[in-house]
Order: sequence, then C-alpha cells, then structure tokens
Amino acid sequence: NRVFTLAKRPEGKPNRDTFELVERDVPEPGPGEALVRTLYLSVDPYMRDRMRAGESYAEPWGVGDPLEGGVVGEVVADNGTEFEAGDVVAGNLRWADFSTAAGPDLQRVDPDLAPISTALGVLGMPGRTAYFGTREVAQPDAGDTFVVTGAAGAVGSVAGQVAKLQGARVVGFAGSAEKVSFLEDDLGFDAGINYKETDDYRAALAEAAPGGVDAYFDNVGGPITDAVFTQLNVDARVAVCGQISQYNAEELPTGPRKLGQLIQKRATVEGFLIQDFAPRFEQATRQLGRWVQNGDITYRETVTEGLENAPEGFLGLFEGENIGKQLVKVADR
Ligand code: NDP
Repeated sequence: NRVFTLAKRPEGKPNRDTFELVERDVPEPGPGEALVRTLYLSVDPYMRDRMRAGESYAEPWGVGDPLEGGVVGEVVADNGTEFEAGDVVAGNLRWADFSTAAGPDLQRVDPDLAPISTALGVLGMPGRTAYFGTREVAQPDAGDTFVVTGAAGAVGSVAGQVAKLQGARVVGFAGSAEKVSFLEDDLGFDAGINYKETDDYRAALAEAAPGGVDAYFDNVGGPITDAVFTQLNVDARVAVCGQISQYNAEELPTGPRKLGQLIQKRATVEGFLIQDFAPRFEQATRQLGRWVQNGDITYRETVTEGLENAPEGFLGLFEGENIGKQLVKVADR
C-alpha cells in the first residue's frame, strides 16, 4: 500500500521534495468502517493551504502525515457499513492505494449515471462550488455581463456555463490560446481572454465587455482582479471563491488595491466556502447531472496516470497545466 506523506512544509512554491511516497500495510477496517481501493484521486489548489502551519480554513497537515483528498474508489471489504464489496464510493481519503473510512463519511457513486471520475469534478465539490458561487453569490441576471477567472479550470469552466444558463453574457480569463478556444468553441463563452498574452488586463476586458461587469466570480485574485474591479458596474456583485495567484506567495502584497472602485460602484464583495452549502449538495448534484446529461454543461478532465505521479498533477495546477478538472488515475475498476 503506497501512501504519500508531507515530507516538509514548502516555502513558496511546493516541489517534488514536498512529498514522500512510503510503503505501509493495507489498513484493516475497524467496526463501522470499509476498506476502499483508490481509483481516482483529486488534487486541488486548497491543498496548498493544508501544507502550511498557520491558520487557515482547512486543518494543516503535520509533517510526516499522510496526505488526504477527494477519492473515488471501490469498496473491497466491509466491516458493518451500508456498503458491500464492489460498490463505488467517494470520500475524503488518503493519497494512497488503500484507505479505510467510516460508513457515514462515504457517499455512494452510481456508475450508470455518469463516468465515476465526475464525482470529483463537475458532479462533485468543484461543480457544486461553481453552482452555488454563481447562483447564490455572484447572482448574474439575464442580460448581465459575468466575468470568471481561472475560467478553463474545474470550478471556472462550470461557473461560466451556469451563468450562461442564467442568461448572462460570459467572459473568461485563462492562461493559454488553447484554453481560450476551449471557452469560446466548446463551452459557449462569449469571449475568452488569454491573460498571458497581454499586460493590459484592463484594456483587454474593456474590449471583451464594453458594457462593464455586473457579476464577477474570482478564482485567482491579484492583478487580474484589480483590473476587473476597474470595470465593475454600479451594484456589481463579486463572489470571492479563490485567490490561487497568492497561494505560493512568501509575502503578500499590501492591501486589496482597488477598493476605491467598490465605493463608486456600490459593489458587494462576498467570500464563500462550499461547505456552508452542505445541506443542499444533493439538489445541486442532481441539477448538474441533468445539465450534463442533456448537454447544457460540457466538462473536461486532465488525467495524470499513476499514484506515484500525484505530486506532478498537484504542482501543475499552479502552472496552468490542466484544462478542466485535474485528476490522478490510480487504478482501473
Ligand atoms: P483549477 O482547475 O482552476 O486549477 C487552477 C488553475 O488556476 C490553473 O489551471 C491555472 O489556469 C490557474 N492559475 C494558477 N496560477 C495562477 C495565477 N498566478 N494567476 C492566474 N491564474 C492562475 O482549480 P479549481 O477549479 O479546483 O479551483 C479554482 C479556485 O477555486 C482556486 O482558487 C480554489 O482555491 C478555489 N476553490 C474555492 C472553493 C470554496 O469553497 N471557496 C472550493 C473549491 C475551489 P491558467 O492557465 O488559466 O492560469
């Protein structure tokens, strides 16, 4: 049973030395637990936060501790849960070949509904984040202009499509020409901006959204967000979902720089955490499932093969190597 542990806390950007792959016994499921064989592992930007010692919304990992993440796996042994061998389940498990978990901490995944990997992407935590962040926080109305950053990623790609379904005009920022054509040609965004091709984000946005911005779904923060703030319309709403451009920063820049824009525009800025919507997860997953089935929502996955390559999958998030949801395929079903 291979298990990844936190080898040391990264300073600035994590690298391969942040991780250690160790060999451990396959764990025995205790009473009320099941043993799960990992099929897919999710790597997510928030995991960077768990690598630091300081305070954050996610509990820090200790040095030497096994890493955890979203897993879709197959039950191989049951010790008094509602599951039986062969069931496909999702849960917050280890970066490992095998994990144990208590029954209530596992969710059943229906392999006939959609590919099982979607339980970690469009029909899982990132899809739900996009769903609630767009509909409940950014709240674009029909005819509004909605801007999303990290637009070709797991959350951003779904957020833009949910806003389109609400009748908004959608503009996305992403980091390559390939990603921009994914947004415009595959997802139906009205415009994509390759932010790596311009220094003048403000001019690029003014061109793509000449009527200004009514709703902004922020996944990245930093200078792109500064530029979006200059283009907000009166009564604009900003949903602060993530700030990935700052996650590896050793020193944070002082202050949000464009707050004056919020005064003039009477804008509302609201941070949110997906956990707070937990009582409504099933409703969101059902709706997203219907949209995926009828083709209203398209999704993409970038799959790194092999548990041993999980660190590369994670590190690639900070280099923009993924289109859509970044997954690690650990084993075949
Ligand atoms: P993504 O699939 O979007 O992957 C991360 C992407 O971020 C990369 O592909 C890259 O795309 C972009 N990126 C990386 N560094 C930078 C940078 N310096 N400036 C601009 N863009 C950058 O990840 P997720 O969809 O899983 O997560 C998106 C955001 O949502 C993250 O900030 C995450 O922390 C947050 N989040 C928040 C939740 C909440 O409850 N509030 C829940 C889930 C996620 P590119 O090529 O475009 O640069």
